[in-house]
Amino acid sequence: MELNSESIWKTYNQQIAFPPLQNDTSVDIVIIGGGITGISTAEQLKDSGFTIAVLESGKVGYGTTGQSTGNLYVNIEELLVSLKEKYDEKVIRNVIQARKKAFDVIERNVKEYKIDCDFKKQPMFIYQETSSSTSFIKEELEFDKKLNISVREIDQQAFPFQLFKGIQYFDQAQFNPLLYTQGLALKIHDKSNCTIYEQTRVQSINDDNNYYTILTTSGVVKAKIVIHATHTPKRKQLSYHSRLGPYREYGVAATLKDKAECPEGIFWLNQNDEKYSFRTYSRNGRNYIMAIGKPHKVGQKNNNKIYVEELRSFLMKRFSVEEITHQWGGQNYKPADDLPFMGRIKTGSNEFIATGFSTDGLIYGTLASTILANIIKGNPDPY
Ligand SMILES: Cc1cc2nc3c(=O)[nH]c(=O)nc-3n(C[C@H](O)[C@H](O)[C@H](O)COP(=O)(O)OP(=O)(O)OC[C@H]3O[C@@H](n4cnc5c(N)ncnc54)[C@H](O)[C@@H]3O)c2cc1C
Repeated sequence: MELNSESIWKTYNQQIAFPPLQNDTSVDIVIIGGGITGISTAEQLKDSGFTIAVLESGKVGYGTTGQSTGNLYVNIEELLVSLKEKYDEKVIRNVIQARKKAFDVIERNVKEYKIDCDFKKQPMFIYQETSSSTSFIKEELEFDKKLNISVREIDQQAFPFQLFKGIQYFDQAQFNPLLYTQGLALKIHDKSNCTIYEQTRVQSINDDNNYYTILTTSGVVKAKIVIHATHTPKRKQLSYHSRLGPYREYGVAATLKDKAECPEGIFWLNQNDEKYSFRTYSRNGRNYIMAIGKPHKVGQKNNNKIYVEELRSFLMKRFSVEEITHQWGGQNYKPADDLPFMGRIKTGSNEFIATGFSTDGLIYGTLASTILANIIKGNPDPY
């Protein structure tokens, strides 16, 4: 098989296409971006009497959503202990509760809409291989228990890889993020009150006292509300860029000679400031292992190939790899205060934003969809 420079999800996607915008139009709400955030927001708003247009410059789910690892978990990339320096426990409890709620939204959507996206409840393991690094795992474990998260310390006998210390989280999940987003898009696109337009890039937005004229590559859309679901804000005047750090990381997938060699689950190896996330994926009779990691700040490293090489060696050293099949890269945006931005871009504005998800945005993007929909519908929202 030829080495694929796109993510594994793009090999296993639905062959669907939504037509581009063809005529100028008017709607109540324009959602810019057809990733998990934009499509989930459209789903949340769909039956509220609004007319909605989702404007996607490329293909639904093919942005960062389609480059992710497809892991759904309540914890966060930097671990919950990292929030202790900036937030009190009440805020951290809210973050966990909100992420759990978003997790449930995804699970409910999969069931209700019968989305074929390989969603499966899985355990998650965060672990260290050796004692050489500082034992933040112990601190995280104690904090998780204090926060009443369902966890336990793992021991070597019950763990398939070399272990110094580790935590198991129960009832987390994995899915194919591209199939999920495409599946959701297919269910909500009905051409009467919710229309998805692909290959329709937003070029500029003119705000005339909260009445918006959106110029795209294939026509003009007028709207009363605009939602920026473009992962990182695209509009020049948005000040968010100075509060978000852009990071790039990489993914490598390979077929396994022996599927039994790696159990299913979410594995995060955190060792000496190095982080690797790995998981299996099986579809159409093929069994893959994939590793994601080697993050660095965008523009601060020259030779990206080294990072991909390191991920390849990571897999080859640990598993009997048959063939490396996919290699890809993706970007994420880390907020200066460690928590994402979701809400109006400024008081009184009818422009909304959801950004700053780090590598936790399959859940945060879904959470943003519920928060934004509640604000727009005038419903109270606890977050
Ligand atoms: C390597 C990697 C692994 C990750 N793994 C996980 C994980 O396991 N779990 C997790 O929770 N999170 C993970 N994340 C983070 C997660 O993938 C993202 O936070 C999430 O997908 C963001 O979704 P989104 O819809 O906001 O953005 P996107 O999926 O990027 O969607 C934004 C869309 O906006 C469109 N767009 C941009 N500009 C315009 C324009 N001008 N006009 C019209 N459309 C436009 C783009 O084409 C794109 O489709 C990972 C991220 C990376 C990089």
